Amino acid sequence: MSSSSFERPERIQFPSDEFEFSTLAVRAGQHRTGEGEHNDPIYPTSSFVYSSAREAAAKFSGDEEGNIYSRFTNPTVIAFEKRMAALEGGDRAVATSSGMAAILSTCIALLQQGDHVICSRSVFGSTVSLFEKYLSRTGISVTFVDPTNPDNWAAAVEPNTKLFFMETPSNPLAELTDIEAVSAIAHANEALLVVDNCFCTPALQLPLTQGADIVIHSATKYLDGQGRCVGGVVVGREKEMEEVFGFIRTGGACMSPFNAWIFMKGLETLDIRMKAHSASAMEMATWLQQQEGIEKVHYSGLTTHPQHELAKKQQSGFGGVLSFEVKGDRDAAWRFIDATRMISITGNLGDVKSTITHPATTTHGRMSAEAKSEAGIKDNLIRVSVGLEAIADLKNDLQLGLAAI
Ligand code: PLP
Repeated sequence: MSSSSFERPERIQFPSDEFEFSTLAVRAGQHRTGEGEHNDPIYPTSSFVYSSAREAAAKFSGDEEGNIYSRFTNPTVIAFEKRMAALEGGDRAVATSSGMAAILSTCIALLQQGDHVICSRSVFGSTVSLFEKYLSRTGISVTFVDPTNPDNWAAAVEPNTKLFFMETPSNPLAELTDIEAVSAIAHANEALLVVDNCFCTPALQLPLTQGADIVIHSATKYLDGQGRCVGGVVVGREKEMEEVFGFIRTGGACMSPFNAWIFMKGLETLDIRMKAHSASAMEMATWLQQQEGIEKVHYSGLTTHPQHELAKKQQSGFGGVLSFEVKGDRDAAWRFIDATRMISITGNLGDVKSTITHPATTTHGRMSAEAKSEAGIKDNLIRVSVGLEAIADLKNDLQLGLAAI
């Protein structure tokens, strides 16, 4: 976007069909000032200056391309957006201040009063609240469905259904939704399919190539990968992204240049991190399944997972998050969590540091008892986001939890 006289011409244009995912993750969107820096620069500025009143007028009117104000565009944020568009395979990405801002902005930008949404009942707790408590006030109605059977989505369609929203795999139960099958139902009813791709990231799953219209992310999770800041992003076709961008620009839910820079650094290691997270989670899930105190393990990499075949079809890896039910009640789950000494007790996930969470009283604590029970969020359920520590040390930590049940 910026075309100042300082800009060094790029020798290679990204995105390009010539390059593979891990190359795009490191290089796409790269923006250099011409000072010779190898690493991407940060542009911590709220506004931009012009050489004349004429140039300012041309930029403000849109006759000339260029930055005006960082709520609208910023070169570091644009670099992150270009990289994300390249990785997800979309025309354009729009960065947001958080993952929830990405979901809110998508809905406000693309829905009208009187529209209906079909949403998986296995989505992040705040996503449920957003639809139920806040978007409902604007006259947007929602029906929650069990996402695992495409027929449930078809049965929930109403004449005013405009958007389908899913998270696959889901948090915390690793339930999968067939993206291709549900996108066909959405499109047959002239609705858009939005996929929250937070758990797999584009390193393991590309929803846009499987029929989704829009992908959203909490960049706070694996895109950063090191628990440093909060952000989000929406990726899709130019037509819908222009609407989302218009709302962000006006509504102000934009990403800061500092955060965009951190997310760019995160993306550079995304591919190898996701492979390593997946390998450790697979080993941990297999091991947990064999432990006396464990009732059930939820991980789509296990052959016992009811949707293991679907996971193999639409994902290139199983991801780093698993959950399990301990034998016992809420107190047993809390004792397990409290007995671990290394794994961080926190609500976040997707970090190089492993995290452990009791969903029913934290991330999903605001859901009604009925909604939790429908979604299968039991009191004895524990979620682990498997980090990059040595798997032997992680097992030793969980062993302390097992002994405390
Ligand atoms: N989507 C999923 C799957 C999440 O797990 C989260 C947060 O945990 C969000 C969206 C919301 O993202 P953020 O916390 O960045 O607003």
